[in-house]
Amino acid sequence: MGISYKKNVLNGTLIDFSLQDFRSEILQKYRYFPCPLCGTTHPLRIHSYPKRYYRDPLTGENVRIRIITIICMTAKNDSKPYTKRLLPDFLLPGRVIRSDKVMEALKSNENSRSMERVCEILGCIDFRTGGKALLCGLQAINKACLYMEERLASFSVRHTRMPVRPDTPLLTIFSSLVESFNSLQVLLCGGAGYVMQHRDHALLGAHWPTKKPTTYVCGSGVSADTS
Ligand SMILES: [Zn+2]
Repeated sequence: MGISYKKNVLNGTLIDFSLQDFRSEILQKYRYFPCPLCGTTHPLRIHSYPKRYYRDPLTGENVRIRIITIICMTAKNDSKPYTKRLLPDFLLPGRVIRSDKVMEALKSNENSRSMERVCEILGCIDFRTGGKALLCGLQAINKACLYMEERLASFSVRHTRMPVRPDTPLLTIFSSLVESFNSLQVLLCGGAGYVMQHRDHALLGAHWPTKKPTTYVCGSGVSADTS
């Protein structure tokens, strides 16, 4: 069953985000997917709606939205981390730069390597910020590829996959895996009633490296945003 919402969608460079639609989307999703805190399937309990910022590449300014924090009492009783922020798929953990824009920058950067263009896409002015985003983006793609390879391999579906030559660019392998992964969602979800189609930038966010290297430079001037 596919579900479409009016908002929380990308519209070219602009984002049409609605907290209400995001809330409906995640409540629906976690009727079928296990709670990210305790690993069992149960109705999600929303704890709060903290604010987050994302960078608008057209203006270079940060835009404020509200996201969702969930709380799980099962995890709390088991002395595990029991709250978690859930982000719409265009956000990256701990960054204001958008995941869809990092994906766009990685694609644009394949041949030319112009950092000016990369920064223009991302909406940043510091080349180091742009370079760091590209590096983290490539690490995320590597991790996402491994994750999808493992999940697909467990279903013996190699016949549906494109043969990969050793010199195939990472982004090509990634796109091919995303395609296979999405076409097999019903199998991968065990035939559950909710089929989630992954957009490539959403996988980037889900596999974004969490450890910030010591050379990390935040060129945005926004440091209070850690989700
Ligand atoms: Zn739970």
